[in-house]
Amino acid sequence: MSRPKKKVYIKTFGCQMNVADSEQMAQVLAPDFVPTDEPAEADLYLVNTCAIRKKSEQKVRSLLGSLKALKRRRPHLILGVGGCVAQQEGERLLAAIPHLDLVFGTHGIYRLPELVRRASQERQLDVDLSAGFPETPPRRWPSGAAQTLVTIMQGCDNYCSFCVVPYVRGREHSRPPAEIVAEVQNFLAAGGKEVTLLGQNVNSYGRGLDEPVTFPQLLQRLAELPGLARLRFATSHPKDLSDELIGLFTELKPLCEHLHLPVQSGSNRILSAMNRSYTREHYLAKIEKLRHTSPGISLSTDIIVGFPGETEADFQDTLHLVKKVSFHQAYCFKYSPRPQTRAADLPDQLPEEVKAERLARLLDLQNDLTLAAHRRLVGQIREVLVEGESKRSKEELSGRLRTNQVVNFSGPQELVGELVHVEITEANPHSLKARWAAEPSARSRRPVVGGTPRRLSC
Ligand code: SAM
Ligand code: SF4
Repeated sequence: MSRPKKKVYIKTFGCQMNVADSEQMAQVLAPDFVPTDEPAEADLYLVNTCAIRKKSEQKVRSLLGSLKALKRRRPHLILGVGGCVAQQEGERLLAAIPHLDLVFGTHGIYRLPELVRRASQERQLDVDLSAGFPETPPRRWPSGAAQTLVTIMQGCDNYCSFCVVPYVRGREHSRPPAEIVAEVQNFLAAGGKEVTLLGQNVNSYGRGLDEPVTFPQLLQRLAELPGLARLRFATSHPKDLSDELIGLFTELKPLCEHLHLPVQSGSNRILSAMNRSYTREHYLAKIEKLRHTSPGISLSTDIIVGFPGETEADFQDTLHLVKKVSFHQAYCFKYSPRPQTRAADLPDQLPEEVKAERLARLLDLQNDLTLAAHRRLVGQIREVLVEGESKRSKEELSGRLRTNQVVNFSGPQELVGELVHVEITEANPHSLKARWAAEPSARSRRPVVGGTPRRLSC
């Protein structure tokens, strides 16, 4: 009889890329560990960290401190920290946290089984980036997952002056296309429908590969795979967004009508200090092309307020750009100085109160724009991929439109994982309410927007 497997609990901080990395961790550990949602039952507790802003780093430190009690109750528990904070802090984390057994950096995921075995004997540190990114065997999925994240490239070579990513994730490295296609095929074979491709700047995908393949070519190959209903990607850098890629939004049926295009600032002076390599005019011209090519496309962005030296006039430029584009959604952050980055050493760092006040004004504007965009959807019939129960109520299901808005509606559990049509009935600041199109009033309504209906699930 085989030994019962031990249990691993993985706590993930930060972005989608970290979510994908945590899924990889669970997969490489699968021969010895089964995942658990209950930290108190874990034999291995991994914290996958984010170093993008100081606040996320502080949350990690506070969690690690609180885990001392769990480690005392379960002395055999192995406690490990991975991801960007582990990469950045390395040995300093082991020195500061005596109950920590393992620190592994962003390239250490595939060495985890060995590291965990050794950590049961003595404390382990693995933060070496010098060997380049290790090979990543195509993942497999259990049946039932409707959507997934597939990492197509690691690291970043752009060195935006505020950003720690190039220092903690290493040089840009693209996975060979055959590996990505095999991974997506594995997912589709398990019944999956929607894939989001991940990279820090997917538009530069392919540089340095033996087989020269561009990002648009990769999208074309994936879009041809039978069974792939929806394809998304993040993140695009505006400087590398080509006309060819913009054209694919109308050519490739699975490619969803949504683009996340981080602008960071609306001021040319600040964009230049950020080393973003584009101007607001260049950014706005891309937006115009996108809207001309794909009129229904929804646009989201990232914005940093309070970058060193940002004046009220610079901030007004950002507000004007936000109004002009009318983003469906914006992720807005106060600038946070990060170790090693050039912006951290710039003079004229702004006081917290100024950053907080600008952030509040920006959020007020964006909330109005998001609600207005949601209101324009009311009355329309749209396709939703049902992801599971709604966060707010177990009575409701939740899913996403092709244009990426969250939609909640009543319907049977069997719809989870299905593409269905709903009629949008109510606009809220962060989500939409809908009526499942199985109900007669929704079935008879026109027009159908955002994707031709494949079937009405009724
Ligand atoms: N690669 C993406 C790009 O080029 O836009 C962004 C990746 S980063 C993980 C996600 C977002 O975090 C950035 O777009 C930026 O808005 C924000 N961010 C990065 N560094 C930051 C910092 N030091 N302070 C505040 N926000 C930051
Ligand atoms: Fe960071 Fe800039 Fe690279 Fe994005 S493109 S990960 S913001 S350095």
